[in-house]
Amino acid sequence: MYFKTKLVLLLCVINVMFVATSQAGVVHDGKGKAVEPTPRVDVTDPVPSGKGWGHRPSDAARDESGMTVESMPPIDATELMPSGKGWGQRPVNGKAGPSRTTKYTNGINYHNGPLILGTTNVYYIWYGNWSGNTAPSILNNLASSIGGSPYYGINTTYYDGQKRYVTNAVQFMGAATDNYSQGAALTDASVKTIVANQISSGALPRDTNAVYFVLTSADVNETSGFCTQYCGWHTYGSIAGANIKYSFVGNPDRCPSACSAQTTSPSGNAGAGGMASVIAHELAEAVTDPNLNAWYDSQGMENADKCSWKFGATYTTPNGAQANMKLGGMDYLIQQNWVNANGGSCTLSYP
Ligand SMILES: [Zn+2]
Repeated sequence: MYFKTKLVLLLCVINVMFVATSQAGVVHDGKGKAVEPTPRVDVTDPVPSGKGWGHRPSDAARDESGMTVESMPPIDATELMPSGKGWGQRPVNGKAGPSRTTKYTNGINYHNGPLILGTTNVYYIWYGNWSGNTAPSILNNLASSIGGSPYYGINTTYYDGQKRYVTNAVQFMGAATDNYSQGAALTDASVKTIVANQISSGALPRDTNAVYFVLTSADVNETSGFCTQYCGWHTYGSIAGANIKYSFVGNPDRCPSACSAQTTSPSGNAGAGGMASVIAHELAEAVTDPNLNAWYDSQGMENADKCSWKFGATYTTPNGAQANMKLGGMDYLIQQNWVNANGGSCTLSYP
């Protein structure tokens, strides 16, 4: 699993290099629209993409002196920003990057944007064909149980400019289904449309304190890079006149070697097991960096990106699968998250 995973990560690194070096190509900015990448300059500090299985981009994220970005003095507009897809991107040409307001003591920085405060609501949109699949019971339980957990407590180390901290509270508000309204080959734009349709039809409420997850069955592709560049991503957009935060998470059964950490899961559904970790990843990022302008590091990595594919101590469950936490009575193998305290580190719980 790790070998193949690393192979995919390598592809991702190549992509990052492309984004950093291309002067003519068009890249996705993680918001469903294309933007011109800015020309590569002599400083190599990146911004988040929002898409993520979270990884460090590459040595290109270090400056020419070989210093890590964290050791450099405060910065200018060359710092990378999140794309929401797990890699950093340069600020759009002509626009200055966000200013940094905090010191680097915990390895991640605040860039003035809002966070999702109070109870974060979660909605699922089951897209495609999920009949006979145990994923809904496994992932509904995740969304219902992650709030209040020691694991989700890690997010409570993040705060806004008024020192208002994320609370350890998540509410699973419900789910809707979509029977291939946008076909089986989705674009970033069609993922947004899937969310917008549920809100405009009234199937799901218009909720600005929420993250909407579009969960696609294994026969569905997301053509901007699912399975080759990311396993999921999060972003935000204007839907029905409101700022709506949403996320794409595909079924890793489409590409187990790329997006599943193990060939089975504690609940006997490798795809759902893989999705659980990606959902936790995107949720952490959406709460601490909902508009891609709050918490991320100098390479554009959001909190969960910094700990992708790191699971910490695991235990063996009755069916032989590995797990590292129990939520709502079920075992899960979920990646670690970056704690913004005590110098910063990947961990499974806080405090
Ligand atoms: Zn990410």
